[in-house]
Amino acid sequence: MTGSPRLLDGKRCGDALKADIATQAEAVKASRGRAPHLAAVLVGNDGASKTYVEAKVKACGSVGFRSSLIRLPETISEEELLARVRSLNADPELDGFIVQLPLPAHIDADRVLQAIDPKKDVDGFHPQNVGNMVLGLPGFLPATPAGICELLKFYHVETAGKHCVVVGRSNIVGTPISILLSRNAYPGNCTVTLAHSRTKDLASITTQADILVVAIGKPGFITADMVKEGAVVVDVGIHRIPDASKKSGFRLEGDVDHASVRDRCTAITPVPGGVGPMTITSLLLNTLKAAS
Ligand code: NDP
Repeated sequence: MTGSPRLLDGKRCGDALKADIATQAEAVKASRGRAPHLAAVLVGNDGASKTYVEAKVKACGSVGFRSSLIRLPETISEEELLARVRSLNADPELDGFIVQLPLPAHIDADRVLQAIDPKKDVDGFHPQNVGNMVLGLPGFLPATPAGICELLKFYHVETAGKHCVVVGRSNIVGTPISILLSRNAYPGNCTVTLAHSRTKDLASITTQADILVVAIGKPGFITADMVKEGAVVVDVGIHRIPDASKKSGFRLEGDVDHASVRDRCTAITPVPGGVGPMTITSLLLNTLKAAS
């Protein structure tokens, strides 16, 4: 293809939505006497998780929300964590909270997520919210898939009748985005194929995609030969690749090999600055909804 693909800039889209969220947060504060309040629970010392949680807390400040960062030791028991979740459920000063994943191996993450009050589940991971999403009923949409939808909307990406291939079937990204993009709505009305590690001849499927959403957790996995000419590519992956030339000691890369793929597609989400900021923006939108 000639020409550069359009960048689906999550920072730009997120900033535009955040301006609106800030205005609405002011209105909530005026009517209830306190700002929307989000808490984030971080268990252990994983560097990437710490960065994500700190970004979420910082974003709260940028839209006038109150935020609380609750740091718990790696050694916390499942029962202690569940007790903490129950106390957050009961806290009348708190509108919503998240428990940052992954949790240490000795803790059953499903049990913890299911203990969160669905009305405060602003990550949208509780089975009740997942069920509501599937049925198209009101509830909290999972943050990353909802953020992808907002981004497609912001850039007026046509979705109706398109073949969307989602690679990866996790509960937090692949499966829910496959459901949202197949709904009778905008964005939606796609014909969706959901691929995973048991999919045979993956490239023969991804090359049929008008819209390719990749969430597999493998850096640079999707190369140009796996992408249809003119496709819209959404790269959810985020990886810290050691890089001595960077001050931080690492650079960020997605699941897509951008250097080769960018010449084949009409639009692509950058990494960083694509889906990541939209996940945070969705979290703010859900918190605002919880507070309203
Ligand atoms: P998971 O590890 O939970 O799921 C990965 C999925 O990819 C699985 O369904 C797996 O299949 C599939 N898969 C793995 N290898 C292959 C392969 N070779 N071919 C086809 N499918 C494959 O990942 P997540 O969904 O949690 O995350 C995916 C990526 O997105 C990660 O890099 C993560 O860091 C990033 N992420 C980014 C976010 C953001 O805000 N930007 C938010 C959330 C995640 P199977 O089910 O068969 O094992």
